[in-house]
This record gives sequence, structure tokens and C-alpha cells, in this order.
Amino acid sequence: MAYNDFTMDNHWLPFTPNRQFRKEPRVFVGADGMEFTTHDGRKVVDGISSLWCVGAGHNRKPINDAITKQLNTLDYSTAFQASNDQAFIAAQKIAEMAPGDLNRVLFCNSGSEAADTSLKVALAYHRARGEGHRNIFIGREKGYHGVGFGGMSVGGIPANRKVFGTALLPRVDHLRFIHDPKHAFIHNTEPVWDEDPLLELENRILPLHDPSNVAAIIVEPVAGSAGWYIPPKGYLKRLREICDKHGILLIFDEVITGFGRLGTNFGADFYGVVPDMLNFAKCVTNGVIPMGGVICRDKLYDAMMKTDAPEHVIEFFHGYTYSGHPVACAAAIATLDLMQKDALFQRAGEMGKLLGNAFHSTFKGLPNVVGIRSLGLAAAVELAPIAGTPGKRAFDIYLDCFKKGALVRPAGDVVVIAPPYIVEKSHIDQLVNTLADSIKKNA
Ligand code: PMP
Repeated sequence: MAYNDFTMDNHWLPFTPNRQFRKEPRVFVGADGMEFTTHDGRKVVDGISSLWCVGAGHNRKPINDAITKQLNTLDYSTAFQASNDQAFIAAQKIAEMAPGDLNRVLFCNSGSEAADTSLKVALAYHRARGEGHRNIFIGREKGYHGVGFGGMSVGGIPANRKVFGTALLPRVDHLRFIHDPKHAFIHNTEPVWDEDPLLELENRILPLHDPSNVAAIIVEPVAGSAGWYIPPKGYLKRLREICDKHGILLIFDEVITGFGRLGTNFGADFYGVVPDMLNFAKCVTNGVIPMGGVICRDKLYDAMMKTDAPEHVIEFFHGYTYSGHPVACAAAIATLDLMQKDALFQRAGEMGKLLGNAFHSTFKGLPNVVGIRSLGLAAAVELAPIAGTPGKRAFDIYLDCFKKGALVRPAGDVVVIAPPYIVEKSHIDQLVNTLADSIKKNA
């Protein structure tokens, strides 16, 4: 389809500078493997798994076949009151992959819905145990948990909050950001901080609110949307200990780190820490059909089932029309089967080392490069902002890379590459060399 075949007058693009886009449209009309085809017939290599979603690469036949088969068998049913077979199979598969006693899967349709769902489960769990006063949430500066009011409130990226400030949840506090400029260059390691970054939680935040009022702490194991920030050594283990000490639930938002990005099933496995809830989306269906969910530890479900209410009463009044959609569940089952059959998570870990090596050897010393962080199959290069126009340098680099046939991700003054797990060395070379050219050009 030629660009002239459609008009630009109706589609309001999300999370996009629409005025800029109108001048310079970037429209995909096809995708296969590692590559997109654009409306003007060019090939663009997918350096960010579209949006951290397409772990298995584009146009995978086993996933497409499973979706088609499901459409022809049971196209839709809710999971309310009566459910569908695919929802049970997908939940079982996901629970088997999850660590510890994370066994109960509540499906939804996106990472934002997963964030809000997990916060609501936390409140309901405490209330079911007679601790309804626990209604404070703690997120983290620069955390991203989607665009629902719950997720925005615990999130900490200023641009996502500033227009909505007064409408956000009131009883929320934030941990400090997990970046220390001393550790600007990180290559597959955990930075060791001089000072314990969680002292602030113990010494200021918890005493301020009284820990017995805190419902949950929610963090991304690695901060993705902010620009791939890696936690200090031992951070998540310490967070787990502090939560246990005070009866606070720990929620990992694994929308990005879940299903293979770090070379393991989940970030929880990578760091050896089991949260009370684990939020997922994106790679679970290879991005092909929207799906999200929250995996809960047994104790959360069990507490909710322990009620004196008559049996017809719904124990947790929450759900979406499309929760456990049979086509999405069929896509998830096929995706996870394919990822396991082709050992794609392990591959992500191995290719991640190549990506990290290439980032550090190519970008270090280039103009304006102030940081490089790599872990798993994702790497970020941080650039000095142009005075007065934060984010412009990275956005210009993104545009330039796109023109040269590489899709990368600008995040503030950071550019991230996180390709599908099927990536080959030749793609890594192409992505890194293109990005290096653009960094030099925009110096
Ligand atoms: N949580 C995290 C950690 C994410 O990275 C994202 C999306 N980038 C979300 C939540 C929101 O997901 P969605 O866009 O599917 O609502």
C-alpha cells in the first residue's frame, strides 16, 4: 500500500510527537523475522522487538497457526462465570514457568492493566485478612507501570505524571532512583554501591507512613522504559527481606524482564528473588495479540477464598471483558511452546553478551556518550542532553537510525536496543554500527 492510499487525519498516535510524525511518517506495512517493511518499500531491522514484545521474531508460523486454529474453534468467550479451555491451559503453562509458589494467574490485556490489577489484589488481600488499613503503595522514581491511574501513581517518570498530578492516587511514596552516575558503565554486572540505596526505605519512608499501613512495594527488576537501569547488587534480595519483615507485599513488574529478556524465564529467576505478585505482558504472546496478567502466590488466592460469604458471591470483584481471551491464550501457549522448543531464552542470554560487548567497544569515547548499560539482551547508551531541550538528541538519533534502516528506542536521553531473541550477529553489527554513525552525526 502506498502512503497516499491513507490519510493522516484520523489516527491520533499514542506516545508519539504527532506534529513531527505528520511531517515525516514512519508506517509499517509488513514484518517477517527480524525485519519490517515500510509503506515506501524499505526494510527496517527491528532493534527493539517492536516494543520489547516480539521475542520470537515476526510472522512465526506456529503462533499464527495456533491463532487461526483457535479463531476457527472458539473465537471468543469471557472468562467470567463460564470460562474457556485455553485460559486454563495458558495459566497452567505460565504457572509452571514461574518461580516458587507463584501459581495463580489473573489475566488482563496489557501491562497497564496488570499494574492496576496487582495493586487491587494487594488491597483486597490485606482487607481479607483484616488489615484494610494497609493502603499505601510504594513505587520508585523513574519506574514505569503503564498509564492506568494506579500504574501512573506508583510510576515515577515525571513526563507521565505531570499533566495528571492532582488525579493520581494520594497514598503513594517512591523509592529513590537506582542510578548512581559513578556506575555509568555497566556490562553484565550488578553495580556495587558504596551506600545502601534501601536505607532510605528503612530510615525515612517506612517510619514516615508506619510500615503497618503499607500494602505493597512495586518495582521493575530492571527499569526498562526509563532507559535500562540495572539495580545495585543485592537490591532486590534486600527489598524482599524488608517486605517480609513488615508484612508488605512485593510486586515485580516484569512486563519487560518477563519471558526471556534476561536469559531466564523471569527477572525473579535471574535475581533469585520470588515476589508476591509478578506482572507480565508483551513477550507472553510475542506481542501478536494483546495480553497481560498477574501471577499471584498461593497465599493471596487462598486468603481471598477464605470467606464466610455465600458461595454465589464473587470473591474478588475485578476483571476485564477480554481477560483470558481464548485467542490471546492460544497465542500465549504457542509462543511459550515455541520459545521453549527453540531454547530462545538461553539464546537471548548468549546474544546479549555479544550485544553488550558491541555496545561497550563501539560507543565508549564517542561524543556525548555519558553511560553504557547492558544486561541480558538489552543495552542502553546514555547521551549528554542538549541544554534546554532534554530528549532531543536521542530522538534525533532515533530518526536518523530509522532512515538508515534500524528501529531503536529513544527514552529521554538514552537510546536502547533490545532485539528479538532470534537476532544474529550480523543484525547486532548492523544495529550498533548504524547507531554509532548516528551518534557521531548528532554530536
Ligand atoms: N510495566 C512495564 C514495566 C512496562 O514496560 C510497560 C510498557 N512498556 C507497562 C507496564 C505498560 O504496558 P502496556 O503498554 O501494555 O499497558
